[in-house]
Amino acid sequence: MVAVDGPSGSGKSTVSRRLAAALGAQYLDTGAMYRAVTWAALASSIDPQDAEAIAKVAGEIDLEVGTDPDAPYTRVDGTPVDRAIRGPEVTGAVSAVAAVPWVRQLLVAQQRKIIGAAARIVVEGRDIGTVVAPDADLKVYLTASAAARARRRSEEYAADLSATAADLDRRDRFDSTRSADPLQRATDAVVLDTTELGIDEVVARLRAMLDG
Ligand code: C5P
Repeated sequence: MVAVDGPSGSGKSTVSRRLAAALGAQYLDTGAMYRAVTWAALASSIDPQDAEAIAKVAGEIDLEVGTDPDAPYTRVDGTPVDRAIRGPEVTGAVSAVAAVPWVRQLLVAQQRKIIGAAARIVVEGRDIGTVVAPDADLKVYLTASAAARARRRSEEYAADLSATAADLDRRDRFDSTRSADPLQRATDAVVLDTTELGIDEVVARLRAMLDG
């Protein structure tokens, strides 16, 4: 099991998917799960700051995640939400939802179940090497300069660069200072700065670490 943590725009999604495909492993995007709960809350007109109502929604929805790296999907009560969970409404509210302790407990339990059922899996998120799977075979922490991360995200979503940079900064601050499982790097994680590295290079290095 490979844990890939890091902030938005660090390249973690692309690297994790490519690595999983190369290894013939499954792939789990835990950020998509927090985003899906956020989508469900917004769809029910719930205030993302209302922790009690958020926790209730999280417990009620049927959240399905597909773990094929070539065709991952996220569904809420049977509805595909892959596109909607990347939109600005969900992105703006997800950090608050992810800070609700009960939401984290619930999703971490689901993530451990998926990991336990997989023969081999690459899992990406913020707390995989620290909380979800501290016993991972390989822990990776991807990082990149703030400018590179903002540029990648704004290109990916065809969004305004300075607004994207401000949003990333806000989420990173919030995620790393919240009281429930703050985003932290595992002390035994391999740190790779992807600012100057291409995706292929990062994937090749990780494969070499797994082989070596
Ligand atoms: O990685 P992504 O940008 O999709 O994550 C969205 C948000 O979900 C993060 O900003 C963070 O608040 C939350 N998250 C988390 N723990 C994870 C994955 C994501 O708190 N394992």
